[in-house]
Amino acid sequence: MAEPTHNVIIGNGSAGNGAAITLRERDPDSRITIITMGSLPFYNRYDLPRVFRGCDDWREILVHPLAYYDDNRITLRRNSRVTDVDGRSRSITFAHNEVMHYDQLLVCAGGRGYLPEELSDYYGLMHGFHSFEAAITTRRALPEGGTVVMLGGDMIGLDLARTLIDVGYRVALLANEYTFWPHRIDADERGGFIAALEHMGIEVVDGMRPVAVEEGAAGTPARRVVFDDGGSLDGDVVMPFYGLVPTAEFMLRSGVDIERGLLVDPQLHTTDPHIWAAGDVCQIWSAADNEYRFYYGWTNVRQMGEVAARNVTGTNEPFEGVDDERLHIGKDGHILSPFWEH
Ligand SMILES: Cc1cc2nc3c(=O)[nH]c(=O)nc-3n(C[C@H](O)[C@H](O)[C@H](O)COP(=O)(O)OP(=O)(O)OC[C@H]3O[C@@H](n4cnc5c(N)ncnc54)[C@H](O)[C@@H]3O)c2cc1C
Repeated sequence: MAEPTHNVIIGNGSAGNGAAITLRERDPDSRITIITMGSLPFYNRYDLPRVFRGCDDWREILVHPLAYYDDNRITLRRNSRVTDVDGRSRSITFAHNEVMHYDQLLVCAGGRGYLPEELSDYYGLMHGFHSFEAAITTRRALPEGGTVVMLGGDMIGLDLARTLIDVGYRVALLANEYTFWPHRIDADERGGFIAALEHMGIEVVDGMRPVAVEEGAAGTPARRVVFDDGGSLDGDVVMPFYGLVPTAEFMLRSGVDIERGLLVDPQLHTTDPHIWAAGDVCQIWSAADNEYRFYYGWTNVRQMGEVAARNVTGTNEPFEGVDDERLHIGKDGHILSPFWEH
């Protein structure tokens, strides 16, 4: 009997999981493997602010019950980092040197937080929010009523800020061009949105450029952010929010075309006939804009995974993303973002 087709998905996020269940529905006999660097099954990233409301158990934010993968005959390889993909031999190499063969590959490796080069030396003095474990570590470092210094903001950080303020922490935001990422804000709108952030209880410091993060002196908060003009701001934790950049390094020798993300056509096909991509990792050709562009947000990402999987199984369907990038200020003076609707 012939071996079943091995569909491999790199990424256990919204795109990867949307793809996996679609593949299972459309190809009941195939072998499906999801690979992730993470240690937990799929959980909602947008639920991570709940950690600051006291959620200590990752089971509370799982998208599916634990038996889901077994029930759908999906092999989940956790704690497994892909270091290389070879499109010619259709093989994947892991950091632990294992090599896995695929027949068809879906790259759903998402993005990670961008940190400007000038701050990279200070990464170890900052706190993260990208995973459940990182959120727990950050919460433990925050004293009751303590201060979070947010660098940049972005809609992920601002979402967290809303919760932090609601549960009694202070948020000092160093606003810059990333503050409303991924939304595009016109220069004449910016003042209104900054005022709306202040109305939401965020202490905004606009126009200062952080150049260093230091440990606080004895008797002062644990961290000090130093500005290029010599000024500074103290807080208990410092969190960078400069938007996301695609996680595509392991594809550099795969043979597919890459710009800032993996380049795909509207059918989410890369330049390799056996490799598709979906989610934050890819840039999609947009005939309307005559350029490759990113589609962010939970709904887009999930749909991309599903469309890519249908195309893997023989359809030729274009992805039509929701393109609502506008920010609004609601009647109560608070910011409303399509990114926060899930
Ligand atoms: C903290 C946080 C909060 C967010 N809140 C919102 C929100 O409120 N609303 C919204 O619309 N969007 C939100 N987003 C953005 C949204 O989560 C992303 O658009 C979405 O998660 C992207 O999904 P994805 O499937 O493309 O990738 P991800 O969910 O990022 O998943 C990437 C997967 O790829 C794996 N991976 C990456 N590289 C490798 C490798 N080399 N080897 C093996 N595995 C690898 C990772 O381990 C992970 O499993 C948030 C994101 C974060 C980080």
